[in-house]
Amino acid sequence: MSTKPHVGIIGAGFSGLSCADVLLQNGVQVTILEARDRIGGRVHQREVGGHLVDLGPNWIHGAEANPIMHIADATQTVTHDPEGRNIAISRTGHLVGEDSVNKAWEFLWGTIEQAFEYSSQHGDRIPPEQSLYDFFQEKVKQSTFSGEEKQLFLDLCKIWGIYTGDPIERQSLKFFFLEEVIDGANYFVASTYKRILEYVSRAAVSQADIRFNQAVVSIDAPPRDNKQHRDRITVTTSTGERYSFDEVVVTCPLGWLQQNTEAFSPALPHRLLEAIRSISYGRLEKVYVTFPRAFWHTDSTPNTSYQHAYGETNESNSAQNPMYTTSFLEPSYADHPAGLEWTQECFSLAILPTPCAHPTLLFYTYGPCSTHIVEQIASLDPSSSEYRNILVNFFEPFYSRLEGYDVTSPDCIPTAVMATRWQKDPYAGNGSYCNFQVGLAQADKDIEVLRSGAGVGAERGLWFAGEHTAPFKSLGTTTGAYLSGERAAARICETVGINS
Ligand SMILES: Cc1cc2nc3c(=O)[nH]c(=O)nc-3n(C[C@H](O)[C@H](O)[C@H](O)COP(=O)(O)OP(=O)(O)OC[C@H]3O[C@@H](n4cnc5c(N)ncnc54)[C@H](O)[C@@H]3O)c2cc1C
Repeated sequence: MSTKPHVGIIGAGFSGLSCADVLLQNGVQVTILEARDRIGGRVHQREVGGHLVDLGPNWIHGAEANPIMHIADATQTVTHDPEGRNIAISRTGHLVGEDSVNKAWEFLWGTIEQAFEYSSQHGDRIPPEQSLYDFFQEKVKQSTFSGEEKQLFLDLCKIWGIYTGDPIERQSLKFFFLEEVIDGANYFVASTYKRILEYVSRAAVSQADIRFNQAVVSIDAPPRDNKQHRDRITVTTSTGERYSFDEVVVTCPLGWLQQNTEAFSPALPHRLLEAIRSISYGRLEKVYVTFPRAFWHTDSTPNTSYQHAYGETNESNSAQNPMYTTSFLEPSYADHPAGLEWTQECFSLAILPTPCAHPTLLFYTYGPCSTHIVEQIASLDPSSSEYRNILVNFFEPFYSRLEGYDVTSPDCIPTAVMATRWQKDPYAGNGSYCNFQVGLAQADKDIEVLRSGAGVGAERGLWFAGEHTAPFKSLGTTTGAYLSGERAAARICETVGINS
């Protein structure tokens, strides 16, 4: 076996790119097979209404000792720790009083903290079927809040769905601790992940052999009985091309692995298959709605960023307190199938610092509601009027409840609208990122198995990376994907005797 193997990396997302970087630094020959015609995977931008926006991640979760935060700093990426008013719209479509909303948010985050602690300390004793919502219900029951407040708190906690992509009733309490992120503030990546992606990909782009439009369909990695002679691994793509490598790193998303376990021959070890099948995969989707101006920043609620974006000034007290998020709680005023959760949250991009601010609302949708939206638009051309009408009709009941809305004003008519459809994208695993749902019995062990590949690295030269193999506290994030790629590369170097 050569001490400098030829490594094939499947996938040019953050994990594949960071893996390539470490291998290239160690003089390893790297070929990346990427199914799409671009790098970045779930990190991707597009223009909406003349503004560049992220279709995948737009947050850096936890700034302390976070490599993505360091890259953001090094690339002069504009990040923003948003402040402002959290508004809530009640079930009947009315603005909830500010004091009640603040109290509800305080209760929400206080309970989330308690649930993290409870799950990490008592996870062994928590039944797999118990959900985070059960925990909330119990806390609300024990409280001395009024009946109205209790309902508001239970409605607001549904917002948890936008963090994981599925309803809070599906969130495992037993493994809730796996949702914890790195310490420190969460930053919105105001100027998009574009420069971060350029930085993460620079080594791969300049030194690796990247083959686009190469969707891998089979990986033949025979066991290596004789450690001195490592059989080569054959990788076949949908166009019939065959590649041969000494080591292969698979960074395909968990959702892809779940649907393509038969791509591996011989079959993956039973325990690895069990881990792949057990961890759940979220359904977060985003919808950007751009307007001629940020009508929701009215004279009564002006804000400093509005000044940045539109050159206006206002010295009043409330200028320090713009609308930042609006939660639309269990909306009875928006038609939807009975029994399905329809809670929405939107984020004002007009509060971002100059020059990133623009008059756009970013809606986060999750669970059955996001699936409903994606199903409706999946086959439509985004430039068609049908596409626009579906999305505008869906979101109008929500944005029309914001302060400043005037049905007769041209400022309140969207100039552009765009929804993601990750659930229809097989190369994103038909979803957003891993999450931990009720029913899981050993999710922490499953993640460790995914990370270690149940030994197929040393035995067959087959390694796994990706957000679902990340260290705890960074699962499901760009940080975790990046770290998992570095880790896979270090393990290959170690196994083949290269100092990394
Ligand atoms: C809507 C949404 C919002 C998110 N928000 C955040 C956030 O705010 N903050 C955060 O930190 N993270 C967020 N994430 C998660 C983050 O995007 C991912 O954790 C991270 O980008 C995953 O990187 P990866 O390398 O593991 O996978 P990917 O980026 O998916 O890379 C895998 C690559 O493999 C390729 N591939 C797949 N199958 C094949 C095949 N058969 N053959 C060849 N190539 C293949 C894909 O095309 C892709 O390029 C979000 C994700 C989504 C979808």
